Amino acid sequence: MKEIEQQTTTNEQRIRLLAQQIGFDACGVSPVGFLSEEDRHIKHWLAEGMNGEMAYMERNLEKRLDPRVLVPNAKSVISVLISYYPGNPKTSTEPPKISRYALSHDYHGVVKDKLHLLLELIQKEFGQVNGRAFVDSAPVLEKAWAVRASLGWVGKNSLLINPKLGSYAFIGELIVDLEIESTPLAIRNHCGTCIRCIDACPTGAIVSPGVIDSRKCISYLTIEKKSALTDEELKVLNGWCFGCDICQEVCPWNSKITISKCEELMPKQEIMSLLPAEMRTISDEKFNIIFKNTPLFRTGWKKVVMNSNQ
Ligand code: SF4
Ligand code: SF4
Repeated sequence: MKEIEQQTTTNEQRIRLLAQQIGFDACGVSPVGFLSEEDRHIKHWLAEGMNGEMAYMERNLEKRLDPRVLVPNAKSVISVLISYYPGNPKTSTEPPKISRYALSHDYHGVVKDKLHLLLELIQKEFGQVNGRAFVDSAPVLEKAWAVRASLGWVGKNSLLINPKLGSYAFIGELIVDLEIESTPLAIRNHCGTCIRCIDACPTGAIVSPGVIDSRKCISYLTIEKKSALTDEELKVLNGWCFGCDICQEVCPWNSKITISKCEELMPKQEIMSLLPAEMRTISDEKFNIIFKNTPLFRTGWKKVVMNSNQ
């Protein structure tokens, strides 16, 4: 691992370099604190019932809004991005379609392993540092921290958009007890007057800029909704059997991005070899072999096949 020149770089820059060496595409730091703006938004969103059946979103609100409740003595949030963009494979463009993020091995493990490695390197550089790694698995408002770390802005499709990576990137965090001076360079929201995602969403799930009503969102319906979909809900899936990428496909910030450099996040060969139409008749056994350790596995054969047949 390359020795980092300590005299000429700030601690934030040193951490960015370590993250880059591990394979993260972007990294930034922000001091911990209470997320007061998000407090208002999330409470309004929950009060309107826009979380649907995701009751877990109502729990641990105090941890979501303040990482110091989650990690005692927390001082800084180190946010990272890693692209998973696989291009436009037929599994994500021909019905029944699978969202691009779900074509590889489960990203939670891949990204978390890299975050643990980053923590080890930070400990080598800075001495004793305690911290915890999070990837979409605990009450952390990832997008809010990524924005504070100057990694992008939240688009009208409610996704984090990084000027170089677009929105097909996973977000992870290390919450650490190390104070790190940071120089946030707030990235302006570059959505401007564009409303392509709002216009393209087939279900009207983007109810206002940056606000998704999960109950209408195909991604929620095909993945998270536990109770059986109604006939009306099945009719609006628009060819998606797992997730939905429409509001990312139309976003101009995704039009010139390059394929992810992360081998572990590339689509599994078994999935790429599967003809999309085969999803409609795939057996339970074959599904479990092909989709083992992918995000589809947790949702399960029954629901995915039912979605595929609409
Ligand atoms: S994921 Fe699909 S359904 Fe959900 S907001 Fe985006 S376009 Fe609409
Ligand atoms: S499609 Fe347009 S409005 Fe929507 S997130 Fe992208 S730039 Fe913003």
